[in-house]
Amino acid sequence: DALTGLPNRRYLLERLGAEWTRHRDAGQQLVVMFLDLDRFKVVNDSLGHHFGDQLLVSAATRLRDCLADKCMLARLGGDEFAILSAEASVEDAIELAERILSAFDVPFSIGDHVVFSSCSIGIVSADDDFHGEPADLLRDADTAMYRAKNGGRDSYVVFNQELRRQVSDQMQQEGSLRAALKKDDELVPFFQPIVCTATGRLTALEALIRWRQPDGRVLTPGEFLPAMEGLRVMGRLDLYMLNRIAVILAQPGLAGWPPVHVNCSSYSMTREDFADDVFALLQQHGVAPSRICLELTEGALIAEPEIARRTMQRLADNGVSVVLDDFGTGFSSLSYVHEYRFSGLKVDKSFTFGLSSNPRTRAIVRAIVRMAESLDLRVVAEGVEDAMTLAALREIGAGQAQGYYIAKPMPLAALVEALDSGKATQWVAPSEKM
Ligand code: C2E
Ligand code: CA
Ligand code: CA
Repeated sequence: DALTGLPNRRYLLERLGAEWTRHRDAGQQLVVMFLDLDRFKVVNDSLGHHFGDQLLVSAATRLRDCLADKCMLARLGGDEFAILSAEASVEDAIELAERILSAFDVPFSIGDHVVFSSCSIGIVSADDDFHGEPADLLRDADTAMYRAKNGGRDSYVVFNQELRRQVSDQMQQEGSLRAALKKDDELVPFFQPIVCTATGRLTALEALIRWRQPDGRVLTPGEFLPAMEGLRVMGRLDLYMLNRIAVILAQPGLAGWPPVHVNCSSYSMTREDFADDVFALLQQHGVAPSRICLELTEGALIAEPEIARRTMQRLADNGVSVVLDDFGTGFSSLSYVHEYRFSGLKVDKSFTFGLSSNPRTRAIVRAIVRMAESLDLRVVAEGVEDAMTLAALREIGAGQAQGYYIAKPMPLAALVEALDSGKATQWVAPSEKM
């Protein structure tokens, strides 16, 4: 590897093949570890690629210093490293992982900067249960690393049968989701009203996906989306929902509907063609861009900030507004509001919940509302579960609200019925139970 001078991926795979033969023929132990620096992208994007490169070189040195003789350290690419350990047990690997994690507790000083960089580690051992190709060991170690990352980073996870089962469950679920995306009766949008806090008038709708199972059960996103996070199928799901919504909005009787918010995964935001796909779809159905609004979380911006920035710019230039979802739960929400072209933000449920009882929460929401006002951003508070909370929002001056107290997400038919009965002009009374 040109940057670190370590063996590269190809070299590692060759060695892995050789050690694998010794493992198979002579019963020699074999452990593979997969390492990935945490938040390396953030460092790289904020301090520059040159700095990122230097951090990788320092990290490589630090890793090498942790290793025993019989280990081989390789750089797989980017911020990914692997360790091949022949004649080592899982216990040895765990010890090594702990040594590495504590070595990374010490910050790196590079030029004028001092940065902390932890890492996440996956460990797999070739044992009797393993029946794959040598390269599959690397894949399993990667899977375990991913778990470590999702579990909060700065830790290690050992690949085991349970994880193998989970991975195959996930693949199966992804398969059935893909199949459902080809039909039109399993994945359906529900709609939840968003109302003006001052007048109670309906101002927008949020589309929330539901999955009708063949046995009649209806799955909520929490039951199937988390496992699909980051997978290609999420991109398909986003376009599927957008298409469903466009078809609905194109119906002649629904010209008076308020804009529909559609949730958008980080997968889509980091895809160069996403904005074009959205426009093509709207055009195909003859739906004006202002009739939809995309909701995204800051997670969608972290992985590929540059692509996300371009995508948002293109969406905004063409009249599709974007709001920042779950505002306040991320780790740098304010900087996102400042850097990207959002038209509004949704105050996360966790703030709304404490609003009527906790003065501190109220102070925070008040500050968010003030800030949004001066930046000309719409504010929607989600998770409004009672009249007191709605009243508090009104008093604070948060423009819009959404939540079970106002209405639960409902199927299209129920929404149409409510709208037909004239609820749009006043979904909740303006001063109800104040
Ligand atoms: P979200 O975007 O934060 O959506 C709001 C969630 O809060 C919804 O859960 C909604 O039903 C729930 N909710 C609404 N009012 C209240 C309330 O008063 N109290 C409480 N406790 N909860 C309330 P849901 O429908 O289960 O969706 C969960 C998440 O799944 C959404 O969170 C969103 O991130 C994701 N999601 C839903 N539909 C889609 C979709 O079509 N595409 C994508 N990419 N993600 C989706
Ligand atoms: Ca949302
Ligand atoms: Ca939300």
